[in-house]
Amino acid sequence: MPSSNDSLLKKSAPILALFLVGVSLFSDGCSKPESFEAERFLESLLNRTDRRTDKVAPLDRPVQTGSLTPVKGKNSQAGMRTSLLMASGSEVIYQIPEDIGSSAYLRFATGVDHSSYTGEDGAEIRFVVLLRGEPVFHSNVPYSSSLPVAQRRWEEGEISLAGGGQLSLRIASNSPGAKEVKCGFAELSVIKRLRRVRAQSAPEAPNVVMIVLDTLRSDRLGTYGYDRNTSPNIDALGERGVVFDRSFAASPWTWPSTASLLTALSPPQHGIVGSKSSFLVDEIETIAESFLQHGMATAAFSANPLICSERNFDQGFEGFFEHAEEGATPILSAATQWVRENSDNRFFLYIHLLDTHTPYRPDPVIMERFGPKAPNGYSEQMLMALHQAQLTDDAADTSKLDEFMDHYSNLYDAEIATLDQELGVFFRGLSAMGLDDRTVIAITSDHGEEFMDHSLVGHGRQFFSESVEVPLIIAGPGIPSGARIEARVENRFLAPTLLAAANLSPPASMESINLLEATRESNPDDETIFFTTSLGRWPNGPLKHRAKTLQIHGCLKERWLYVWAPEQPKLREELHQLFDLYSDTEAKHNVATRNVVRMSSLKAEVIAWLEAGAATRVDTFTDQALAKELMRGLGYIGEQEEPAESDETSVGAE
Ligand SMILES: [Zn+2]
Repeated sequence: MPSSNDSLLKKSAPILALFLVGVSLFSDGCSKPESFEAERFLESLLNRTDRRTDKVAPLDRPVQTGSLTPVKGKNSQAGMRTSLLMASGSEVIYQIPEDIGSSAYLRFATGVDHSSYTGEDGAEIRFVVLLRGEPVFHSNVPYSSSLPVAQRRWEEGEISLAGGGQLSLRIASNSPGAKEVKCGFAELSVIKRLRRVRAQSAPEAPNVVMIVLDTLRSDRLGTYGYDRNTSPNIDALGERGVVFDRSFAASPWTWPSTASLLTALSPPQHGIVGSKSSFLVDEIETIAESFLQHGMATAAFSANPLICSERNFDQGFEGFFEHAEEGATPILSAATQWVRENSDNRFFLYIHLLDTHTPYRPDPVIMERFGPKAPNGYSEQMLMALHQAQLTDDAADTSKLDEFMDHYSNLYDAEIATLDQELGVFFRGLSAMGLDDRTVIAITSDHGEEFMDHSLVGHGRQFFSESVEVPLIIAGPGIPSGARIEARVENRFLAPTLLAAANLSPPASMESINLLEATRESNPDDETIFFTTSLGRWPNGPLKHRAKTLQIHGCLKERWLYVWAPEQPKLREELHQLFDLYSDTEAKHNVATRNVVRMSSLKAEVIAWLEAGAATRVDTFTDQALAKELMRGLGYIGEQEEPAESDETSVGAE
């Protein structure tokens, strides 16, 4: 989030001053630090209704902010973005200050909503942008019903705002029925490209490497007490740094949790709570943007297809390398190569690996150590079919299930050991480049994995330890060596902690919690931790609820784990679970009905958390669809308004 000084309307003097300092550094003739161009988001025109004039709009279709998604469905890269909704025949004008500067750009996308792909062959909407009366962008977006889904997408646009003046956005069409089409301009982000001086690393100004090992529950690592030797290299990193014994992810699936890791915001605050809302808005400042603003070279290597540029997760990364569903070996080798090319400068490197997510393909030699023989008749498909049968049919024969599940769990262990071996190679590569004394390395995960610990397989579904308790290890210069922190922590505060470890301040949008400082004196169970998921399940309820995907929320407070499924379209009654973790450490006995008063007060806390988060959301303009996705779970939205989704469960890399 930009400071108020950077607002389009305010003077851009502070930035210009910085720019000039940068220039003077180059002209003094001494050693010349390398300079580079860094983007800085200033604001979105979507929020500037005060500077907008609706020149033309059909009477019954006024211009408004809202949301658009060209394709419904979770894995689609054409997901929902906040937009200026304009019917065909509309024109809006923005007045851009003439002194906005030569480095200001407008970034936007044009699109048609999935509900409007109903036109005849050849039907299209024409988007035009003019600056001072001159056309600077146009695109024709087809919306015929015969258009293949793969071709329904956002069209990205970018224009220079240099010189300012009248900016006009127009939407038109000659196609019959076009006035009914829901379409518009998304994002409308004003961005400046500023020259910065490259920073140099030093022990007191270290590089930062943040590694997210997708789907890794902490109790399967040696350093967290596992009795199998899955993780010698991760354990060794822990020994030379700090291990957080009980670290929790914000949600048991990738999108909400990873958005929290990059921004330090809770899911209700960043708004990435469901498949449709998974666009990381420009208004939010990520850890990568913070490092970039301080002159660090930044790069991300992501194996998870959900962590992608189309969903705007590339904010602040100069290099964003998408290796969808590739293994650690090529990714870590590419990351090592990037470090080699950038190690003259101070850098921030983000690596998101998917090896410990299904499908499991461990190194066969390593698998020898973990129980290589698959039981007769085993396949992952057969395992899932048996599991599903057990869940939905009390009479099904599932006698092979336990044996199959043991093998599946062995594969996971072997996958961790395979990944750990690759991480060892990567760490040794950094050491060989002489980076150990000036590089902080952190390892965590976005969520864990269930192996029927509480009836289910996979993740996203529940808030038990196996789903949300993840490793958190930080090592490097200035970090205590061999320390363990017992206090419960939220791993989303890794971002401000890494900024502090790098001797930098967090941006205004981040709570400035330094986990290395804040938790030292506290009672281990002080922290109340909240969770939310739109992929929730309720496997131990009545049969009719077991296979439904539900919005669920919950919290861990003192000795209690509370889970709540509010009344929602797929569930006509609210459900509760309450576990006393002091007397029932594995959370096997639901004591909700015996502790009604306690349960009610925890439910009130969860609701307060959801509402407070939504109230402090950074993209504050009214966006009903985004709010619905969260509030549906609070029982505010009825079935007629928001039909139940059918595509939530059929996903690969959640
Ligand atoms: Zn994940």
